Amino acid sequence: MSALLDLAAAGPVPRDLAHGLLASPRGALEAAARARRARARGDVTTYSPKVFLPLTNLCRNACGYCSFRRNPDEPGAWTMSPDEVRTFLEAGRATGCTEALFCLGDTPESFSTSYRELLRSFGHGSTVDYLVASGSLALDLGLLPHTNAGVLSRADLVRLRAVNASQGLMLESTADHLGLPGGAHYGAPDKAPAVRLAVHESAGVERIPFTSGLLVGIGEQEAERVDTLLAIADLHATYGHIQEVIVQRFTSRPGVRMAAWPEPDQEAVCRAVALARLILPDEVSVQAPPNLSARPGEHDGVAENRALLAAGIDDFGGISPLTPDFINPRHAWPHVDALGALCAEGGSTLRPRLPVHARFLDEPGWVADRVRAVAASCAGAPALEVG
Ligand code: SF4
Repeated sequence: MSALLDLAAAGPVPRDLAHGLLASPRGALEAAARARRARARGDVTTYSPKVFLPLTNLCRNACGYCSFRRNPDEPGAWTMSPDEVRTFLEAGRATGCTEALFCLGDTPESFSTSYRELLRSFGHGSTVDYLVASGSLALDLGLLPHTNAGVLSRADLVRLRAVNASQGLMLESTADHLGLPGGAHYGAPDKAPAVRLAVHESAGVERIPFTSGLLVGIGEQEAERVDTLLAIADLHATYGHIQEVIVQRFTSRPGVRMAAWPEPDQEAVCRAVALARLILPDEVSVQAPPNLSARPGEHDGVAENRALLAAGIDDFGGISPLTPDFINPRHAWPHVDALGALCAEGGSTLRPRLPVHARFLDEPGWVADRVRAVAASCAGAPALEVG
């Protein structure tokens, strides 16, 4: 191993040396990442048993890879009613979930009159009002909300903090050129790196446990992945609020602007995982969604998930026994037993976790007392059968 990789295996790579990692071959990067992972996370791999609530798929952006978003008058446009929210939450609780994931498009009320009227009929003036009420209901039912509602103001992040265990926003990439005509983020003003970095910063100032992530293979260079990871590491160094970073690969799907865009190969994805593990501090978990490893109709993704573990992930994120991945509906979640066997092969034990890391529950000032009380009642949640 090179001197730089030796350094990286022992602790986060110094900022000015991080791009030097790019000269290392995949095998050496992964070996160093495995050493860091063992040091950082021991022999445990985690996942969060969750119920997924796509509160609305209306969104004011138009990302080139998105098959989730709809216009208000388009077939498949969907906003959950309060009754549907309750039904999903009750079913999640009944099947042993501990996380209620609220994931939705960006500020639909900013462009849709019919959506504004629908919200009013539910008794709410904004999407955040509806999220606060839904999060509160989740807590009443014994679930811990994690909300990813896109770009939010600092005031809205604070309102959501009262009823959420954690919040999240994928940074995706700090590469500005992705927003140019033809780029993955063209037509998506909320994907501008400066806008998303500002949300991360607000969450840090307000001491909100936060999940970030990068999207691999949307037109960025590998050096730009390093830039993105360094930006997240810098934010965490200032505020200490990043609990996990998702390394998510681009998946092509029919009907989107990037339908013909090539998916990143396994080497690119695994190198991104290893870079994340080596650049981020030990207390930041490195996560990859296991359902995106499969290629529908071609393979089940087992070999790819084995490779992700070998590249240094320590977390599979949320897995639902109940609801599909509404953002990536072609990709079913794998059975937890199968993931557990893969982890065992690689020398780790798969365990369920809460959607907020223990350090934020232990230290005052990070989560609301009401959230902490629900977390205490969830802490013994058993591993789940998922499939
Ligand atoms: S990826 Fe998110 S922000 Fe982009 S169009 Fe889809 S829902 Fe909107």
